[in-house]
Amino acid sequence: MLEYWQVLLPTPPHSVLTYERPEWFPPLAPGCRVLVPVRRSLRVGVLTQTCDKPEFATRQILWPLDREPLLDEDYMELVRNLASRQMTDPGAILHLLLPSGLRTSELTFALSQGPFPSRLTPHALGKLSLDEKRELVALWLDGGMRVHLNPAREAEETVVSLAADPPWPVRPNAVSQLGVLEYLLENGQTTRRRLTEEVGGNVGSVLRRLADAGLIRVGREEAGLEELAPACEIAEDVLTNSQEQDAALQKLMQAMDSPQGETVLLHGITGSGKTHVYLELAEKCLASGRSALLLAPEVALACGLYRAVRERFAEARCVFYHGYQTPGRRRDAFAALADGHPSLVVGTRSALFLPIRRPGLIILDEEHDESFKQEERLAYQAKEIAWFRTRQSGGLLVLGSATPDVKSYHAARQGRLPLVSLTKRVGEGTLPDIRLVDISGQKDPEKPLAAETLDALTRTVEQGGQAILMLNRRGYAPLMYCLDCGDVVRCPHCHVAMTFHKSRERLICHYCGTSYSYPLLCGKCGGGNHLPMGEGTERLEETLRKALPEGTGVLRMDRDTTRRQERLEEILDDFAKGRAQVLVGTQMLSKGHHFPNVTLVVVADGDLGLNLPDYRSAERTYQLLLQVAGRAGRGALPGTVLVQTRNPGHPFWDHVLRADYETFFEREIAQREKFRYPPFVRLGLIRMSVPVEGEGPESVSDDVRLLSDAAAALQRAARAPGVTVLGPAPAPLAVLRGRKRYNCLIKAEDWRDVRDVFGRFSAWNPDPNRIRLRLDLDPVNML
Ligand code: ADP
Ligand code: ZN
Repeated sequence: MLEYWQVLLPTPPHSVLTYERPEWFPPLAPGCRVLVPVRRSLRVGVLTQTCDKPEFATRQILWPLDREPLLDEDYMELVRNLASRQMTDPGAILHLLLPSGLRTSELTFALSQGPFPSRLTPHALGKLSLDEKRELVALWLDGGMRVHLNPAREAEETVVSLAADPPWPVRPNAVSQLGVLEYLLENGQTTRRRLTEEVGGNVGSVLRRLADAGLIRVGREEAGLEELAPACEIAEDVLTNSQEQDAALQKLMQAMDSPQGETVLLHGITGSGKTHVYLELAEKCLASGRSALLLAPEVALACGLYRAVRERFAEARCVFYHGYQTPGRRRDAFAALADGHPSLVVGTRSALFLPIRRPGLIILDEEHDESFKQEERLAYQAKEIAWFRTRQSGGLLVLGSATPDVKSYHAARQGRLPLVSLTKRVGEGTLPDIRLVDISGQKDPEKPLAAETLDALTRTVEQGGQAILMLNRRGYAPLMYCLDCGDVVRCPHCHVAMTFHKSRERLICHYCGTSYSYPLLCGKCGGGNHLPMGEGTERLEETLRKALPEGTGVLRMDRDTTRRQERLEEILDDFAKGRAQVLVGTQMLSKGHHFPNVTLVVVADGDLGLNLPDYRSAERTYQLLLQVAGRAGRGALPGTVLVQTRNPGHPFWDHVLRADYETFFEREIAQREKFRYPPFVRLGLIRMSVPVEGEGPESVSDDVRLLSDAAAALQRAARAPGVTVLGPAPAPLAVLRGRKRYNCLIKAEDWRDVRDVFGRFSAWNPDPNRIRLRLDLDPVNML
C-alpha cells in the first residue's frame, strides 16, 4: 500500500506538496526531513502528516534525511502560529528558523560499506535499481549511511573573523584589505559567503594575504568563547541559600510543578543572587527528566551563565547557542537537541527556536532588555515565544530582572503575573550610595569629568579599589567640526554627524556604517583643520590615562574594543583579576557582570537618553542607571555611584537616587495612563520612508502633498472605535540610509485593530516602490 505525505518546503516556494512513500522505504514520521524532487531540482522538506491519495499524479520521496524526527508537533505548532501572525507561509517561517545546513539539498551520503561507493550523491542515489535501494535502506537503518554537506557548501559556511586590533600593519592603499578589516570590525565575524557579497571582488586572495599576515582567521570553527577559562567566582554548588532565596525557590518550584504552564516575574535587586536561584531551578527541572533553557540578552552574559551551568552540571548535556556562532556549530546544536535527551541550553534569544522537546523551564534573565525583541528578518518578542513554548509544554517561565519592564510589573500588580521578590543583596554586599554631580557649568569638551568626579576616582585608585565609568557613546568624539568654515562632517546618506574614531583614523556613521579615512578635507571649504567635539569612550579613556595617578591601569570595553570575542573575555578577566583599576565603557558593562572589588561607579553623562522623543526613554534610562549602579559595592566594601548631569533639578533623579523601583514605577505608570501609552493601549508604529530626491522646491511640495495625503488616509483607516492615530511626522532620525523617514502611531484596544488600521492604510499606498510602509508592533525604539 502506498502512503501519501504532505511535505513542507523550507526553501522557496515554501509550499506544502504531496508525495508518495515507496513501500520499500524505511518508516517515516512527522517532523523528519526528506529529500524530494521539485520540478527539476531536489529540495529538503519536512514531513507534516500523511494524507489520502490525491487526485493528481504524485512523485516519490527520494530519501529520508533523519532517522528520528528533527521537529516535534509542538515545534510545528509554533511554526504555524508564527506564520499566521506574520501573515506568511509556514515554509517561509521554517526557512528563518532552521540553520542553513539543515535545509540545503547540497548534500552527499557517506556510506560505510560496499557494494556502494563510499560517497553517493542524491542524483546517483535516484538512479540506483530497486534492489540496490532496498539494500541501502538496510544500511540507512543500521546507521551506516550518513548525510554530509557538499564540500563547496561547506566552504561557503567558512567563517572569517578578526585576529588583531587596529591599527593594522597594512599599506593605506591596500584598499581591499582595509575594506575587509573594517567590515569585520564594524560587523563582527561573518561567513565567507556574506563577506563576498558585502565587499565584492576577488575576496579569496585578499583573505589569504590577511590570514598569512595573522590579521584574520579563516576557518570552520570560531574560537569557542565558552571554552575559555572561567572568571574567578565562588563555586555555585557550595552556596547555602539565603532565607529570601529559599522562600523564592519554594514558590517557584511550586509553580514548576503545576501541569498547565506558569509564568512568574522574579524581581530581585542587583546582587540579590538571582543566578543562584536560576541554577537551583534548573537542577530540579533536570532531575524531573526535562530540559531547561536559560536566556541572556547578550552573548557575553550568556557566556558567563553557560560557564556557571557547566561547572555546576558537569554530568549533564549542556548546549551553548547564539546567533554569532558558526553555521556549523548552530547546525550541530540544533540537530543534537532533537533526540529529546534532557539538556541544559544556554544562549541568546534565538535559542528559543531550538527543537528542545517539551522544556520544563525557560528563564529570561534581564527580562526588561530590549534585545529580547528582534526586529529584523523575523519580528518577534522572546517573551511571547517563551510563553507560548511553556504553555505548550506545561513548563515554568521565569522573567528575572532588577528593573522589570514596566509592562511586566504592571501585570504583576494587577495580579495577572505572579511576583516573587528578592529585596536584599546576598552575603556582605550592600546597595551603593548614589549621588548627582552637577556638570551644567562644564563647557570644555576636553574635560568631560567634574573635579569632584576626578577626585573620587583618584581616591579610589589610591586606596586600591576599582572603578567603572560608563559613557553610552563609542568612538572618540561624536562631532567633527571644520575650524575654517564651521561645517560638521555628516553622513551623506543619513544626515547625522559622523563619529570620529581616533585609533582607527576614521569617521564613521553609526547608523549605516559609511566611513571616511581621516585626515580628510572639508567637503564644503576644502580646509584641512578639524576639531573633534564632545566625547566618546575612546576620548574618556585617553583623558583618564592623563588625569589619574601614573601607572593606573585603564581598560575600555565597547563595540570597538570587543570585536574579537577573546578580547572581550580578556578585558573582563583582567579587570576581575585586578590587573587594571579602571574600566571605561558603554552600556555593555552595565549588565550582569560581577566585580566584587568595584567601589565606585561613574556615569559620565546621565542625561544621555533621558530626553529622547520616545515614550520609553525614562524607563530605559532608569533601567540602565540602576543596572550600572548595581555594579558597585557587590563585595565587602560599600559602593558609591556618581551620576553626572546637566539638569540636576529634573524630577526623574529622585527615583534614581533612592534606587527604589516601586516609586519609579508609580510615577511612570501614571504617566503612561495619562498619555495613553502601553500597557494601557496596544501601540503600533508605522514607519514610512521615501528616497531622498533632491532638495529643490518641487521636491519640498511633493513631500508636503505626500504627508497630507498620508495623514488623510491614516485618519480614514482608523475608523474602528477606541482607535487613535497620529502622524505622519518626521522621525527623530529624519534621514537614514538615503531615505526620509516619517512615523505614525496607532493606539488601540487590541492588536487586531492595530493590524486592521495598518492593512487599510497600506492599501492607500499609491506607489509601493517608492513609499515604504512597515508596521512595528509594540515598538521598543521610536527613533
Ligand atoms: P544578581 O544576578 O541578582 O545581580 P548574582 O546572581 O550575580 O546576583 O549574585 C551575586 C553574587 O552573590 C554572586 O557572586 C553569587 O555567587 C553570590 N551568591 C548568590 N547566592 C548566594 C548565597 N546564598 N550565599 C552567598 N553568596 C551568594
Ligand atoms: Zn549613514
